[in-house]
Amino acid sequence: MFDVQKIRKDFPILGREVNGKPLVYLDNAATSQTPQQVIDVIVDYYQNYNANIHRGVHALSQEATDKYEQARVKIQKHFNAAKPHEIIFTSGTTHSINIVANGFSSFIKKDDEILVSAMEHHSNIVPWQMLCERTGAVLKVIPMNQEGELLMDVYYKLLSDKTKLIFCNHISNALGTINPIEEIIEKAHHVGAAVLIDGAQAAPHLVADVQELDVDFYTVSAHKVCGPTGQGMLYGKEEWLNKLPPYQGGGEMIAEVTFEKTTYADLPHKFEAGTPNICGGIAFGAAIEYMNAIGFDAIAEYEHELLEYATKKLLEIKGLKIYGTAKNKTSVISFNIEGVHPYDIGSILDKLGIAVRTGHHCAQPIMDFYKIPGTVRASFSFYNTKNEVDILVDGVVRAMKMLL
Ligand SMILES: *Cc1c(COP(=O)(O)O)cnc(C)c1O
Repeated sequence: MFDVQKIRKDFPILGREVNGKPLVYLDNAATSQTPQQVIDVIVDYYQNYNANIHRGVHALSQEATDKYEQARVKIQKHFNAAKPHEIIFTSGTTHSINIVANGFSSFIKKDDEILVSAMEHHSNIVPWQMLCERTGAVLKVIPMNQEGELLMDVYYKLLSDKTKLIFCNHISNALGTINPIEEIIEKAHHVGAAVLIDGAQAAPHLVADVQELDVDFYTVSAHKVCGPTGQGMLYGKEEWLNKLPPYQGGGEMIAEVTFEKTTYADLPHKFEAGTPNICGGIAFGAAIEYMNAIGFDAIAEYEHELLEYATKKLLEIKGLKIYGTAKNKTSVISFNIEGVHPYDIGSILDKLGIAVRTGHHCAQPIMDFYKIPGTVRASFSFYNTKNEVDILVDGVVRAMKMLL
């Protein structure tokens, strides 16, 4: 049984007050909170076996290395990657995307085409623009409709033998849309293009099976799945990771170094230059374990219930408009009140202890599409409650009374 009150006890931060009011944390699409089970793992690392990995002969180094590599295997199993070394530990999705965008500079030529979806996070737009600038390739956009769904017929027409790469998020952080990535990947492979799916927003809500998807690259940030900041992963098919050049040079990523020539280490170390976030990697594994213990099916079902409840309640407010009404979406609600700036609503909600995001959510092209400066975004996690939805709705009504 899914017992939200019991789950909430795992998250010490949910017990605190903000501005004299109990915290209502609805900014989960920006970062998730950390359960005690993961905090304990972090403390245990620094209290008991903090050491550098992969090089020491001493016991602590061995212990840290074992735990770090065990975490990699936990993450490999979770996403069903074929091999542990197809999981590259990174500092997060942004870092993961940059590894791929940088690596593809060697394969992309002038007039090749790269497709991105209209609802990308800036971290999945800017690296590709930089890649196009370096190579003379052309960036094309897969458009979306008013509901916030990709126009798949236009996507099919954009595909050609010039298409080399496609980048799309699995779930939009600004709208909550779940994109039909199975179809996107399959059609891309027909023309021989590689696909990177940004899974940062999907990982907290569902489990992607990278082999079943046959995706070439998949990225995740630990801090959105109850793990720490500064940690994430890049999944890449082994053949791609072997082909891509390393992103950063340094220690850990080499096999042999002389002043004449350096040979690179095998996967995954080729992409993991320098001392990594050892504690972060171990805690990432613990966070994935924590979420699996609750169960992603139970999480999805509960969050869907919250989404439906919140959508219904918010739409009862006159003048409130929701952006992102895709049939297939997760528990993210972006909205505006007619005649009010989103920032003003966010500020009043904050006074009431309610944490939401306001602004463009690192997805300015979406805001331009709707011709709005930004939205108020409430994003729900499995530890949120219907009572918190009610507090949000009351808060919005109060804000409107003050502002209108
Ligand atoms: C959060 C997020 C990112 C960026 O992740 P970082 O952890 O900041 O690197 C990229 N894409 C999407 C869809 C996101 O939600």
